[in-house]
Amino acid sequence: MTEREPVRAPTGTQLTCKSWQTEAAYRMIRNNLDPRVAEDWERLVVYGGSGRAARDWASFDAISRTLQELEDDETLLVQSGKPVAVFRTHRWAPRVLIANSNLVPRYATWDYFRELELNGLIMYGQMTAGSWIYIGAQGIIQGTYETFAEAVRQECGGEARGKLIVSGGLGGMSGAQPLAATMLGSTYLGAEVDWGRIQRRLADGYIDEIETDLDRAIEKAISARTQAKPWSVIYHGNQVDLLTRLINLKVAPDLATDQTSAHDNLNGYVPHGISYEDALTLRIEDPQAYISRAMDSMAEHVCCLLELKKMGATIFDYGNNLRGQAYDAGIEDAFTYPGFVPAYIRPMFCEGRGPFRWVALSGDPEDIHRIDQVVLEAFPDNRLLARWIELARTRIPFQGLPARICWLGYGERARFAALVNDLVKRGELKAPIVVGRDHLDCGSVASPNRETEAMPDGTDAIADWPLLNALLNTASGATWVSIHHGGGVGIGNSIHAGQVTVLDGTDEMAERAQRVFTADPGLGVVRHADAGIPAAIDFARTHGIRMPMSPAPVPAAGAPPAATV
Ligand code: NAD
Repeated sequence: MTEREPVRAPTGTQLTCKSWQTEAAYRMIRNNLDPRVAEDWERLVVYGGSGRAARDWASFDAISRTLQELEDDETLLVQSGKPVAVFRTHRWAPRVLIANSNLVPRYATWDYFRELELNGLIMYGQMTAGSWIYIGAQGIIQGTYETFAEAVRQECGGEARGKLIVSGGLGGMSGAQPLAATMLGSTYLGAEVDWGRIQRRLADGYIDEIETDLDRAIEKAISARTQAKPWSVIYHGNQVDLLTRLINLKVAPDLATDQTSAHDNLNGYVPHGISYEDALTLRIEDPQAYISRAMDSMAEHVCCLLELKKMGATIFDYGNNLRGQAYDAGIEDAFTYPGFVPAYIRPMFCEGRGPFRWVALSGDPEDIHRIDQVVLEAFPDNRLLARWIELARTRIPFQGLPARICWLGYGERARFAALVNDLVKRGELKAPIVVGRDHLDCGSVASPNRETEAMPDGTDAIADWPLLNALLNTASGATWVSIHHGGGVGIGNSIHAGQVTVLDGTDEMAERAQRVFTADPGLGVVRHADAGIPAAIDFARTHGIRMPMSPAPVPAAGAPPAATV
């Protein structure tokens, strides 16, 4: 625990740093740690188990000081959340370069990582935590909404009302699930062990009802499903207990998945069969015993999901590596159900579409509302986007600096950037806009159990793509660029990159943004075309993306998942 005052990003037009380029990084690291945004700001934990924004408070202070002094031809280097050097580069170079949690592959295990972490030498950056572009639960809510919508379209004949979605966790990302489900019109039932998290989501309007009695929670959810009522019920308890009871009562949900922090078997997932308080004590007093219980629990968790599948539920993995953990704990058929990317999201990746987001540095929600309007006018044919903006306006509260998420694709992102930079230039917005994305994007991640699962040419584990992505964004003029390891699915399982670019209304940023917002999603299309996916090959051809060697289509189903190799 720290006795620090809560962190907040400055708002308004008064600069703390020497330009908007550095001011943006200064405001965004603070925004990540704002108590309204971060899950546990005092421990510098932003979301996703132990995803941090800076290694420790001394590093946070040094980053802040350095950003205040940084010139517009200098670059700050951050190594696992600690600022290590400043070098003279040039104006178009990123102002900050970040590398978080990277280990040489042979050493990339949680045990090795945790030993280094304990000695203060490394930090887990998750994806947008250590790269300073987390925007609260809103950052995932559109992705969750689109994922559930596509699952309902494919598996439930497109009718979301009267359907029951079951999942676990109410953390930074997982907390978006109940709201996404009810926005679609479905009923949602899920468990969360941490009472504080439940209260937080209730206060933010993400959940409708809490129940401490397991059978009553299930009854309420069944009753809402019967009435086709968009309603979410949260059971205060363990997800494994909830699933076991559903099986015993022979209640099959329509869709079942999970988003507890399964990627981290020590500081994320909470095993069943032990009270939450005792689990927290065990975590500190006997980490090995805790890990062993968590692994057994995750094995049972997956067995429950497989049982629900037999009972008629559609099940899919929702990006937390629960299947990988269960497989390591001895469940050989853990990978017999699909991940959400190959099942529902990949067609969007083939068009360079992914979780793009923007933040108003002014702190004024009006700036976001003005951009909403511009986006709706600029992309009148994108029905997905129009539906989303309307829903987001009415249903999603801002956390910290006002922000918007929107899955824009290749071509749209560059056009968006030009329009918004122009709004800033004309003084129609109060201050510049920061534009970035999740690392979970089309061309920026190698993650065989998630984003690159079941690539048709078997290239799931090839990590050249995220490295090329970071190099390309650096060369194109992004404001800050990051390379991380282990986000989403845990140490040893992913390598990914991020970029953030500040639209400050200058001609220089207009040029830089055109390059970044074309190259960044363009590489996503190329990654999928190179893997032989016909839709991406066609998209690259029709959109003039230059690939020196024509890719050949490859039939689906390539190499087995990495966990089984
Ligand atoms: P978080 O750590 O903030 O929240 C997870 C929540 O799960 C916590 O509140 C925790 O108390 C609860 N929990 C843990 N074990 C439980 C159990 N057995 N029963 C009930 N509750 C339990 O993490 P988050 O930001 O919500 O992310 C959740 C997971 O999703 C992570 O593994 C993360 O890497 C992954 N993730 C997926 C995506 C995606 O797009 N699919 C995106 C971001 C993160």
